Amino acid sequence: MTMNSGWKRLNVGVVGGGIGGMSVAIALRRAGHEVTIYERSDFAGEVGASVSCAANGTRWLHEWGVDVAKGDPVVLKKLINRDWKTGEPVSVYSLDDYEKRWGYVYNMFHRQYMHSMLKDSALGDEGEGTPAKLLVNHKCRDINLQSNEITFENGTSAHHDLIIGADGIGSAVRGILGIRPEKRPSESSCLHANVDTDEAVRLGLVDYSQDSALEYWGGQEGKWDKIVLSPCNNGKLLSYYCFFPRDQGDYSTQAWGAESRPVEELLKPYPHLDRQVLQHLSIGKEIQPWRLWVHDPYPYIHQGSVCLLGDAGHPMMPHQSQGACMAIEDAAALGILFNKQYFNGDIGQALAAYEEVRLPRVTRVQAAAAKAAYNINERIGFSVNKDTPTYKVEDPKKVLTIEEMNAYDMYRDIEEKLAAKRGSPYTGKFICGLPIGLELPSGITIGA
Ligand SMILES: Cc1cc2nc3c(=O)[nH]c(=O)nc-3n(C[C@H](O)[C@H](O)[C@H](O)COP(=O)(O)OP(=O)(O)OC[C@H]3O[C@@H](n4cnc5c(N)ncnc54)[C@H](O)[C@@H]3O)c2cc1C
Repeated sequence: MTMNSGWKRLNVGVVGGGIGGMSVAIALRRAGHEVTIYERSDFAGEVGASVSCAANGTRWLHEWGVDVAKGDPVVLKKLINRDWKTGEPVSVYSLDDYEKRWGYVYNMFHRQYMHSMLKDSALGDEGEGTPAKLLVNHKCRDINLQSNEITFENGTSAHHDLIIGADGIGSAVRGILGIRPEKRPSESSCLHANVDTDEAVRLGLVDYSQDSALEYWGGQEGKWDKIVLSPCNNGKLLSYYCFFPRDQGDYSTQAWGAESRPVEELLKPYPHLDRQVLQHLSIGKEIQPWRLWVHDPYPYIHQGSVCLLGDAGHPMMPHQSQGACMAIEDAAALGILFNKQYFNGDIGQALAAYEEVRLPRVTRVQAAAAKAAYNINERIGFSVNKDTPTYKVEDPKKVLTIEEMNAYDMYRDIEEKLAAKRGSPYTGKFICGLPIGLELPSGITIGA
């Protein structure tokens, strides 16, 4: 890599030490910078649920040298959509050739394992660059956008060259940047439950972990009811996301982490659900509400030397399983923009390019996630299963596909945006990171 003559080492402050905060700390320490992460909690409340990482996220974990085995993932082999009542498969998307096609697997992690895997890479002595520092019990209260000074509720303050707001869906940094979200509670509610695979097997129930699949019940009928099952911890834990219409139970103001809800509350909305999965839910534990709010895209995600990353910058509905991947992609973009090849010392220019690279892509995924909430045919993977008898999508040319997610080349996208900013010609055969001539299953050819 040739060094850009204006490159300089930055003192970076990251507000929020979740999945995105840890990821950006890894990316920026590798790019040569000094990183401090400020986290409001002490992580005692990390959510006990699965989180998926498709190839577009996994590729960065490998590029950064993260020890993925520490996350104890299940490598997914299929996406299965089942009939609500009978459990018979309705639409199946095989992932058998996924790694061969895209170079990386589709991982399903447990959040706590994924978080600690990323934390080890961000803070550990091993790996490129200076280990990041983590200061817990540092809740950001304010940032002076002129002086770049962060003040914390514990009375301390810190100055940084570059500040990244990775403080999640309720972001304080977002408000400090003057962004007021247009948001409304989702039409659907969600309760999450964990099922211990061994216990299910002991009771003679189906061993869904054997499928190594992300499995869905319902979703074809244009209704809000849907069960999503993801196996994690090498199959030992089954993580169930149970969606139902909000008028059957409103959890939009209840936070995760309180006492477990009673199991009757979990089963109540589902009188007609496939008995096999209902029996699993009846032994569900740690039943927690997941507050779901729909946010419209934000007009900008940076100002001065401060930017937003992950859910702080683009919260999305969970129905494309891309929230964590998008946070990882954001981190990757900052890691590239501030590396020795591309960063010329102009922080404002790098953050403007960051916004141009990230906003269109995350907005597209955000919109597709909102559509997939009530129509599973809009979900990446199922979106190309046109032979499914009940297949129907809003606009076949606009469906989001695995090709668009995984054929994307972020380096080329960044080069294109930086060339425009620096007045130099861009000769790559890519448009917004997608190769010219790529035929998407939606019938669109890139550049045509
Ligand atoms: C139950 C659940 C299941 C999910 N499943 C999936 C999935 O299967 N696939 C997927 O891709 N995505 C999933 N997501 C979404 C995904 O977890 C998020 O998109 C992803 O974690 C975003 O990372 P983040 O770093 O932006 O936010 P978070 O991981 O939420 O981290 C934000 C951090 O900021 C800290 N913080 C907040 N305010 C402050 C402050 N003022 N000062 C300092 N620190 C602060 C918080 O304590 C937290 O540690 C799921 C989310 C939940 C809750």
